[in-house]
Amino acid sequence: MSKSHDEEHTQKAFGWAARDNSGILSPFHFTRRVNGDEDITIKILYCGICHADLHVTRDEFGSGVFPVVPGHEIVGVVTQVGSNVEKFKIGDKVGVGNLVGSCRACENCQQELEPYCPKAETTYTMFDFGTGKKNYGGYSDFYVVNEHFVVRFPENLPLDAGAPLLCAGITIYSPMKYYGLDKSGMHLGVVGLGGLGHVAVKFAKALGMKVTVISTSPSKEKEAIDRLGADSFLVSKDSDQMKSAVGTMDGIIDTVSAPHPFAPLIDLLKTHGKLVVVGGSVKPVELPIFPLLMGRKLVGGSAAGGLKETQEMIDFAGKHNIVADIELISMDYVNTAMDRLAKGDIRYRFVIDIANTLNVN
Ligand code: NAP
Ligand code: ZN
Repeated sequence: MSKSHDEEHTQKAFGWAARDNSGILSPFHFTRRVNGDEDITIKILYCGICHADLHVTRDEFGSGVFPVVPGHEIVGVVTQVGSNVEKFKIGDKVGVGNLVGSCRACENCQQELEPYCPKAETTYTMFDFGTGKKNYGGYSDFYVVNEHFVVRFPENLPLDAGAPLLCAGITIYSPMKYYGLDKSGMHLGVVGLGGLGHVAVKFAKALGMKVTVISTSPSKEKEAIDRLGADSFLVSKDSDQMKSAVGTMDGIIDTVSAPHPFAPLIDLLKTHGKLVVVGGSVKPVELPIFPLLMGRKLVGGSAAGGLKETQEMIDFAGKHNIVADIELISMDYVNTAMDRLAKGDIRYRFVIDIANTLNVN
């Protein structure tokens, strides 16, 4: 007979949790499972704040999974290894993204597409699947995880600014690879210059692509071009600017976190162009059909990436010195950070300095 949650989770842990849809986070004591034979234990050093954390803590997905300890951009150091662990040793610098479990046997798992496994388990519980199982995320002191779901962190990358790659990085890298939007000389549009969008610009430039940022914020134009290296910038609400770029893009990665019209984006695509949506807006959008037919265009989606690809992504980032532009914050600043993220007042990712500021009490 399998053990109950409490029998299995006997280690005391500490983090910050939201208890209701106010989204307000506060100190929270909970338990984690003991380190199993294939597990490693990670002392968390840094954790990025993904917009998904805001969606879930404010219950914008309507899943009501409280209490929720968010955090799936985890970087830390290995403090314990199980007897069957092969990849890691104590002291290694490692990362965990938004996946910590899958069946490891289905067609998706066999193709190293773990996010699409029907039994995929997210690092913190985002939806209630009625299993009674609950995961708590990285706004906490340590994490126990099967080694399969852990990546090795490149030596040369800073741990704090590298943390957002574990979700933001793989979420844009995986669709760029899968949809073939990764070829030098191609023209890529990036919609929404936030946490995901700004790393999309960096990866696309490292791949030798031409990049146009499509944004609602004219104030981001100068830094998009001067600092992030984008080639051009379109203000999505300026119809003249949008018209000037009709039919010019091979693909678009759409990272927007709220409902917005697809029609003007589809118009920007060349024949055979692809609009790939990764933003997590829950409301359905209207899809114009004729603009798709008249150009054999495609609209697709993508969720994070498999573990093999996540390692490939972070190694690529290490080789090309790609990290996020971050604002490093203390744990007790998290509620202000969430309010600022909701308003788009961040360039471009908050990262929590867990090791130095999570005061266990
Ligand atoms: P973020 O930092 O808040 O960036 C989102 C950007 O979207 C904003 O900076 C803004 O850019 C634009 N935007 C926001 N509201 C908008 C609106 N109403 N209309 C048009 N544009 C708007 O968020 P993030 O962390 O990058 O995450 C983006 C989305 O991806 C979230 O929904 C998140 O849940 C989702 N996500 C999905 C996956 C996945 O596996 N598919 C993984 C991680 C995150 P501008 O100012 O440039 O317009
Ligand atoms: Zn995320």
